[in-house]
Amino acid sequence: MAKDYYEVLGVAKDADESAIKKAYRKLAMKYHPDRNPDNKEAEAKFKEIGEAYEVLSDADKRAAYDRMGHDAFKNGGMGGMGGAGGFGGFTDPMDIFAQMFGGMAGFGGGRQRQANPRRPGSDLRYDLDITLDEAVTGCDKVLEIERLVPCNACNASGSKDGAKGYKTCPTCHGSGVVTRQSGFFVQQSTCPTCRGLGQTISNPCSSCHGEGRVHKDVKITLHIPPGVDTGTKLRSSGNGDAGLRGGETGDLYVFIEVKPHAIFTRDGKDLSCTMPVPFALAAQGGVLSVPTPDGAAKLKLPAGTSGGTIFRVRSKGMPALKGGGRGDLMVEILVETPTRLNSAQKKALESFTATLESSNQPDATDFLRRAAKYMK
Ligand SMILES: [Zn+2]
Ligand SMILES: [Zn+2]
Repeated sequence: MAKDYYEVLGVAKDADESAIKKAYRKLAMKYHPDRNPDNKEAEAKFKEIGEAYEVLSDADKRAAYDRMGHDAFKNGGMGGMGGAGGFGGFTDPMDIFAQMFGGMAGFGGGRQRQANPRRPGSDLRYDLDITLDEAVTGCDKVLEIERLVPCNACNASGSKDGAKGYKTCPTCHGSGVVTRQSGFFVQQSTCPTCRGLGQTISNPCSSCHGEGRVHKDVKITLHIPPGVDTGTKLRSSGNGDAGLRGGETGDLYVFIEVKPHAIFTRDGKDLSCTMPVPFALAAQGGVLSVPTPDGAAKLKLPAGTSGGTIFRVRSKGMPALKGGGRGDLMVEILVETPTRLNSAQKKALESFTATLESSNQPDATDFLRRAAKYMK
């Protein structure tokens, strides 16, 4: 529902020309897009104010509006316009503003909004594989990347004559957009002459063809902190692409992938490993030497340790990336059954087995007791 034009400008129904003009000036200054960058509400308001002013400042249009309201300007509702051959749609609010204020300074010369020819450079992505050992200790990596860097030949201006060589684009007058009006609709598209930059260069730099930046293979040394994991994203500030014509440089984002390890698997901060142990050692107990990322650690293996038992070696897991203590290493015992026994070993084992009593094998004894009726 379109708002009442008198209400939009905050004037009385019988306001005279100068009161309407005054109200428009005040509101248009307040809601001008240059003063409210990226403010959609202000933009809509500015458009509304322009529309209201356009109608109320024109005696014919105002009379039509007073008679028929907004219907006077609806498509096909031109009866109210005295058969003037159709209402061609509203004028661009920027043009109304320009007509009112002329070449006033501080608002892009009172013209349309100016495009900014300096554009920020893109962020770049680099996928980096590292080993688990590197993730534990942290490391420095040299990354070879191709990125856009500021052009030295023109001091990143893109112009052989520096900033003096910049000209306002003759096609779009600096706005970067061209407007085509067809009936009631206004279509905007990127200006083909300046590619939306609002600016042309009379003498473009031959090294960068007016871009102010060139491709270059560069080496960047990046420190990888201890504790990174697959999916960790590191930002290398200012190592993305240089901006267009001196615009801001982007960042480089390094995505870490930690390669699988031969012994350790990772679960967050903890590491785990499965360690085969001779059955005699598992039976008798003893001190077991276990691998950790920092080298061997001693683990006391109690006599009668079963396969599947997990021991925790404190603080031998992963360092924490963001503070906090180091994780643990979980060592799962795998009791290895001897294979390919020779006859002497078989004999020894038989004589050993002959000595076994049920108390030596409590689990087997208990199981057989519970399962007895199913084993007849
Ligand atoms: Zn250049
Ligand atoms: Zn242009």
